[in-house]
Amino acid sequence: MAAGMVVVFDFDKTIIDCDSDNWVVDELGVKDLFTQLLPTMPWNPLMDRMMTALHARRKTIQDISECLKRVPIHPNIVSAIKSAHAFGCDLRVLSDANDFFIDAILKHHGIIDCFSEIKTNPSFIDEQRRLRILPFHDFISSSHGCTLCPPNMCKGLVMKKIRASVSADGKKHFIYVGDGAPDFCAGLKLEEGDFLLPRKNYPIWDLISANPLLTKAKIYEWNECDELGTILLNTVKAFFIGDKSGKERSNRLVPIDCKSQSSSVSASAHDAFQNALPVPPPRQ
Ligand SMILES: [Mg+2]
Ligand SMILES: [Zn+2]
Repeated sequence: MAAGMVVVFDFDKTIIDCDSDNWVVDELGVKDLFTQLLPTMPWNPLMDRMMTALHARRKTIQDISECLKRVPIHPNIVSAIKSAHAFGCDLRVLSDANDFFIDAILKHHGIIDCFSEIKTNPSFIDEQRRLRILPFHDFISSSHGCTLCPPNMCKGLVMKKIRASVSADGKKHFIYVGDGAPDFCAGLKLEEGDFLLPRKNYPIWDLISANPLLTKAKIYEWNECDELGTILLNTVKAFFIGDKSGKERSNRLVPIDCKSQSSSVSASAHDAFQNALPVPPPRQ
């Protein structure tokens, strides 16, 4: 093939149809404490605090694993991930969840081997058999300085590093898929010939709509996870088939205008207007 395709996925509300942190907190009965503490501390250390609370309530690592197996994931996403991998795409996860949660879910659905790398908050099990969750970026010692992202991870910075690391062996094109404000930050690192697949009516969508000229990538939005599976596969197929035939490539793409007149946010379709980046809404 002439050029490789790297697909970078957000995890929560993208690969899975919920937030894995909220899922565990709700399912294992510490939601009240979580809600009480949320205004007082950042999300990432709060999740570590929640693991301590679960441990104190005699919830085991096994209980957390079992709970993660029940996380909803659409079968179309699972099959689209398998197909994209079979097409030869290099699949990666870039997530503000943690490696324990993501590993457990991807393993349960038999797709962990489709991914070459998972960039997320690290975790470990301590000597008391308590799950500990650490920040990806040590924000105590230094700030990454990005206002779109939480203090523990700037997805734009990580995307930049991924881009640099894979470009060493030839030209690569990227697809980025996500729903949150940090996913917009990652999307800003995309270039001509890349694709951004934002979840419609989620924070990334609001940021794209307010700043339509900021990303150079082609944008194909999606609403629900089953739709994402189809759009992802169309984009991958169009890319590889379009490598040989530009005509087929353009015919196979799902145009962003096909579902909603107001949804066109590609730079060329808009008059030039550039707002200052709005402050992102808090993570929910
Ligand atoms: Mg997400
Ligand atoms: Zn950022």
